[in-house]
Amino acid sequence: MNQPEGPRILYVEDDPASRALVQRVLQAEGYGVDLAEDGVAALEIARRVQPDLILMDINIGGLDGYEATTRLRSIEDLERVPIVAVTAATLDGDRERALIAGCDGYIAKPIDVDRFPDQVRAYMGGLREEIGSPEVEAEHLKAYSQRLVGRLEEKVRALEDAHAELQRIDKMKSDFIVLASHELRTPLTSIYGYVQMLLQHTEIPGDPAEHGSPRQMLQAIADASQRLHRVFDEIRNVSLIDADRLEVAQDRLKLEPLVHAVVEDLRGFGRSRDIEFEFRGLADLPVVRGDAPRLHEALWNVISNAMKYTPDGGQIRITGRQIEDTVHITVQDDGVGIPLEEQERIFDRFYVLEDTGFHRSSKTDFKGGGLGLGLTVTKGIIEAHGGKVWVESEGYDEEKLPGSTFHILFPLSDDPGTGS
Ligand code: ADP
Repeated sequence: MNQPEGPRILYVEDDPASRALVQRVLQAEGYGVDLAEDGVAALEIARRVQPDLILMDINIGGLDGYEATTRLRSIEDLERVPIVAVTAATLDGDRERALIAGCDGYIAKPIDVDRFPDQVRAYMGGLREEIGSPEVEAEHLKAYSQRLVGRLEEKVRALEDAHAELQRIDKMKSDFIVLASHELRTPLTSIYGYVQMLLQHTEIPGDPAEHGSPRQMLQAIADASQRLHRVFDEIRNVSLIDADRLEVAQDRLKLEPLVHAVVEDLRGFGRSRDIEFEFRGLADLPVVRGDAPRLHEALWNVISNAMKYTPDGGQIRITGRQIEDTVHITVQDDGVGIPLEEQERIFDRFYVLEDTGFHRSSKTDFKGGGLGLGLTVTKGIIEAHGGKVWVESEGYDEEKLPGSTFHILFPLSDDPGTGS
């Protein structure tokens, strides 16, 4: 039904039958009618449509009719709009409370359909009810303020309870993920271990590179179980990072052998990729304190990304420098680059830039996909060491290949010891 062109009335009411009835009566009188089901919706609609009159049911959810009225009165453009309480609450003090809250009048429910249009017209025409003496008004104002603070306290408590419950559920989820990934990893470790033992046997025929040979198939099982291992580790680490429970050892270590171990490991994965590595300054870096396996993982994620987003024939430069009391490692690739607006978000968990419809799981293939957890884990690990990680890239371009540079800043402790 088209809205009549007359004055606009906002009717706030949670009962659909009452809404339909009042709407029909008002539209028949030529008013345009907007409907709101609760106090918060009423505020939003009133701001938007600037009605000529508001009819406010008092007993509604969330903000009740009194509170919604008080709030409406504090909105500059709505200060003068007549607000009329429509309610079945007709006990002693209800009328006064409605007036104190900011209503201009009071229509009792159930609505008398014959009288209703005249009542509305009267308020439109300027009718305003008043409480009476200043003493009575002051008394009701005090009672109203106390009621408001009481309701506020109830809401704050309900929010605190909901927050505590959410934290409990979140912890259960994190514990479950840690346990589940542990449970899944245990049988996988057996599979990997036994396949490795089988591969030691000289009587296993074939060559790892000979497609379809028993040796190649066993090698494929070994590679696949290692990949699954990494996925479980990633999921587990993100849960620990989320729950602030990632612990890092403080061993003395040198970063150069660590970086070389990561690159060797990845070369094994990316056997078929023609990518050249260049290292600068790593040998001169001082000894640092940290957790070697975790740092291996942090660097692994960054360097495997550099491989994934660099086409064959590209180059990856890994540089180390000491700047005052920090060690600065950069991993620079010749790849597709990262859009400027995404450069912070790529460190968020589950964030992948690519269309997941084209997802192709690989750690080193050109643009092979992942879970979107790698950089989250890297950031968590580096931050747990007191460091920082960020990226610089001129943008994404598959033709021009602007490349990306990941920076890892690592603090030097006062007592790095002698190294190992
Ligand atoms: P995943 O674990 O799936 O590899 P990451 O958290 O490591 O995810 O990376 C998130 C996203 O950041 C990737 O989907 C990719 O779009 C982008 N990205 C990360 N490193 C690079 C890089 N060196 N070059 C281009 N894009 C990158």
